[in-house]
Amino acid sequence: MTSPGQLAPRLPSPLEEIRDDRFDRRGLRLLLKRDDLIHPELIGNKWRKLAPNLAAAGGRPLVTFGGAWSNHLRATAAAGRLLGLPTTGVVRGHELADRPLNPSLSRCAADGMRLHFVDRSAYRRKDEPETLAALLRAAGAEEAYVVPEGGSNTAAVRGCRDLGAELRGRADVVAVACGTGGTLAGLAAGLDAGQRALGVPVLRGGFLEGEVTALQERAFGSRTGAWSLDDRFHFGGYARTGPELDSFAEDFEQRHRLPVERLYVAKLLWGLVALAEEGAFPRGTAVAAVVTGRPFPAA
Ligand SMILES: *Cc1c(COP(=O)(O)O)cnc(C)c1O
Repeated sequence: MTSPGQLAPRLPSPLEEIRDDRFDRRGLRLLLKRDDLIHPELIGNKWRKLAPNLAAAGGRPLVTFGGAWSNHLRATAAAGRLLGLPTTGVVRGHELADRPLNPSLSRCAADGMRLHFVDRSAYRRKDEPETLAALLRAAGAEEAYVVPEGGSNTAAVRGCRDLGAELRGRADVVAVACGTGGTLAGLAAGLDAGQRALGVPVLRGGFLEGEVTALQERAFGSRTGAWSLDDRFHFGGYARTGPELDSFAEDFEQRHRLPVERLYVAKLLWGLVALAEEGAFPRGTAVAAVVTGRPFPAA
């Protein structure tokens, strides 16, 4: 059996309203869309993106790609264990092969994922058909179903439409942290007319507008829904943080008893507080923040 439904996801995920004086003061409502509670191991948007791919894989082994701390690699490894599918993770960084595994990769290995380390230049070229074929050959995974880095293919983007659909009529603005932008692309397509999606990129570079548009064109035929990006809250790039962001996240955890994932969710919440304080949302606006993940390792 390889159907993701047998994993008993909690869907629709809970939507919780919280009181926070930084929003109260501006006459705003703040809601948390708790995608972190969908499944204990296939967490958040990783569930939404993987589930349709697991169905499409039809029981074939899975191969996918990621960095040393990738939430997507861990989710894929867990899915493999739970569904009895062999998985291979192609990991960026050849030098990691000679070091003890970090906790994230250890978890992948414990879930039965075979790890295949590649140098950064080959990794960068992994979407070129010849490089991909060579990588799969070297990893012994030529028959496998390939899920791209970050999991954002057409099936994944379509899967994320459900996130938007679950929020129809529940909020005016829905905000999400973005890596590849696949979750935002699907979310925006699932919302109602009159609602809008706001993406907060955690990577630096300003390339996401084009990426999200391209993902939507492939999944839905054209740019779809009302969405925009605010590029000011990446803190210097992926996995970059700082003492201010850390203490903000700790404070938010204490105020609201929400475990705040640091690579994405902390930056999203920081961005929303900043926008509220700037007066970016009219009074009466209901803002939903998508909690796309949980800290790893768990606090
Ligand atoms: C992967 C991930 C994201 C980014 O999702 P994209 O679809 O790649 O934009 C956001 N939040 C968390 C917690 C994630 O693990």
